[in-house]
Amino acid sequence: MQQYDGRAPEDQYASRNLGSMVNVNGSSSKRKKQVAASALRRAAHLHRLVESVLAAVLVRKMLLFANPAGIATFNVSKPLSNVFDLPRIARSYIRARPGAGGSLPGSASAIPTLRARLRRSATGKAACGLVASVADVPKVALVTGGSRGIGRAVALELARSGCDVVVNYASAEAAASEVVAQIQAMGREAIAVKADVSNQEQVEAMFAQTVERFKRLDVLVNNAGITRDGLLLRMKKEQWSQVIDLNLTGVFLCLQASCKLMLKQRSGRIVNISSVVGQIGNPGQANYAAAKGGVLSLTKAAAKECASRSVTVNAVAPGFIATEMTHGLPLDEIAKGIPLGRLGQPEEVAGLVRFLATDPAAAYITGHIFTIDGGLAIGASG
Ligand code: NAP
Repeated sequence: MQQYDGRAPEDQYASRNLGSMVNVNGSSSKRKKQVAASALRRAAHLHRLVESVLAAVLVRKMLLFANPAGIATFNVSKPLSNVFDLPRIARSYIRARPGAGGSLPGSASAIPTLRARLRRSATGKAACGLVASVADVPKVALVTGGSRGIGRAVALELARSGCDVVVNYASAEAAASEVVAQIQAMGREAIAVKADVSNQEQVEAMFAQTVERFKRLDVLVNNAGITRDGLLLRMKKEQWSQVIDLNLTGVFLCLQASCKLMLKQRSGRIVNISSVVGQIGNPGQANYAAAKGGVLSLTKAAAKECASRSVTVNAVAPGFIATEMTHGLPLDEIAKGIPLGRLGQPEEVAGLVRFLATDPAAAYITGHIFTIDGGLAIGASG
C-alpha cells in the first residue's frame, strides 16, 4: 500500500523510481533539498520521455509487421515522419538546453512542449497515412509536351500505372485532347493544359491549375523540346535562343515550380528528358547539345538540393526515337550507326520513365542519367 509522505506527487513518483540515486530526505540544508528535488523532477520527466519514444518505436514495428510492403512504400508525409523521426526528437530535446533559447531538459516547461509536438504529429492531417502506402494513393503526374511523340507515350504509360495526368501542350490541342480521352478511358483523370513552358507566367499558371484540380503533384516529366538545327557558323542567334529557352530554361522553370510543391510534400519524382546528343554532341546541333547537356548538369544539381526532402531528380537521355522530331532524317543511314540497328520507339522510353517516376524500386535513385539509345553512345559494332 502506497503511503502519502507529504511531498508533491511528482517527487513521490521520482523517489519511487529513482530514490536510490538521490536521497532527498537525507539532505541537511534547505538549498540541498531544493537542488536534489529539482534533479529528481528532471529525472522523472526524462524517464517519461524515454517511455514515449519507446512507445513510438513499438507502434512503428507493429505497423511494419502488419504491412511489410510498407517498408518500401511507406508514406513519409511530414506529420507521420515526425512521429517516428527519433533523431529529430533527440535534436529538439537537445535544442531545449539553457542558453539555446529553450528550457532545461526535463524541466516542467520543456517536456510538455515535446509532448505537445509528439501529440500534434500523431494527430496531424496525414496521420491517416499510418496505414496508407504510396501505392494506395492516386498519384498525380504532369508531362510537358504530352500531346505527341515521347511525351504522349509517357502520359499514357503513367496513366496505365495508376497516375492521374496533366497533359501539357503548346499548340496541338486536338492531339492533347485525344491523349486525355485515352487516359480517361483507362479510368484515370486527366486534363490538357496549354502552356509554353519557356514562359514563366504560363508555367506558373499551369502548376496552379494542376494544384487546383488535383491538390498535389507527385511526378513531373520535363519532356517538351524542339530542334532548330544548323551548323555552328551559320546558326542564327534566334535559333540558339529558341532551343535554349525551351529545352533548358523551360526545364528550369518547371523544376522550380514543381519543387515548391514537392519539397513541402516531402515526396516527388522528377524525370528530365535530355538526349544522347547532350552527352556526345552532334554536328548541326550545337544549340540542342548545349541545352540537353545543360539539362544533365541541372538534373544533378537539383537532385542534390532536393534529396533531403525525398524528392528524386533523374534524367533520361534517348538516342534516335521514331517521332515527328526525327521525321525527314536519313533514318536508314542513322540505323547503321546504332548497334541495335534500329530507332527506338516512344513506348520504350516511356517504360524507363515510368520506372523512374513511379516504381518503388527507383526510390533510391537520384541524380543519374539513363541513356536509352540502342547502344549509339558506345559506337557501331563491327
Ligand atoms: P515531338 O514529337 O516533336 O513532340 C514535342 C512535344 O513538345 C509536343 O508535345 C509539343 O507540343 C511540345 N512542345 C513544343 N514546344 C513546346 C512549348 N513551347 N511548350 C510546351 N510544349 C511544347 O518530340 P519528341 O521526339 O517526342 O521529343 C520529346 C523530347 O524528347 C524532347 O525534349 C526531345 O528533345 C527529346 N528527345 C527526342 C529524341 C528523338 O529522337 N525523338 C531523342 C532524344 C531526345 P505541341 O504538340 O502542342 O506542339
